[in-house]
Amino acid sequence: MNPFKVMLGLMLGMRTTLKYLFTKKSTIDYPNKPFPHAERFRGVHELRKYEDGLERCIGCELCAVACPANAITVIGAENDPAHPTSPGERYGYRYEIDMLRCIFCGWCEEACPTDAIVLTPRFDLADFTRERLVYGKDKLLVKDPFTQHLANTESAAETEPGRPLPPQAQAAP
Ligand code: SF4
Ligand code: SF4
Repeated sequence: MNPFKVMLGLMLGMRTTLKYLFTKKSTIDYPNKPFPHAERFRGVHELRKYEDGLERCIGCELCAVACPANAITVIGAENDPAHPTSPGERYGYRYEIDMLRCIFCGWCEEACPTDAIVLTPRFDLADFTRERLVYGKDKLLVKDPFTQHLANTESAAETEPGRPLPPQAQAAP
């Protein structure tokens, strides 16, 4: 082994290291720093509420009809007049989006008459099973109107996917 060749190789390697040591880094400290994305980036959905806490979704299914990927399942139910879930007669009892089908086109957002379903800048969607990537209201519904864009709460457990419908739940009008 020629020691001069070894030294030359080391110096060439160090030259590359020194060249990039003081330049601007192209990597980011994710997840401590947010990933930069386009202003109109469409990511994970959230179901919003009004400021009084009532859900905006009225279970009309327009978003499900508009979805080109057939990713949305909505089952509406009659509101209990004494304890309404949303303004009006009906609310979205079951609301699910299959994130593995979704192509993030935003048509559901466009179709919604109450601005209930919106796409947020969130993009971290990884999980370990297909079932966990079918998002129900437990993950989509914001906990309160002041935490919008911070979905993935643990509320509304009674609407977990697969749970039986309540007696008042009916087919869409
Ligand atoms: S973003 Fe597009 S594909 Fe995804 S649920 Fe909405 S309408 Fe369907
Ligand atoms: S999210 Fe909007 S379009 Fe979809 S069922 Fe609810 S109110 Fe209707």
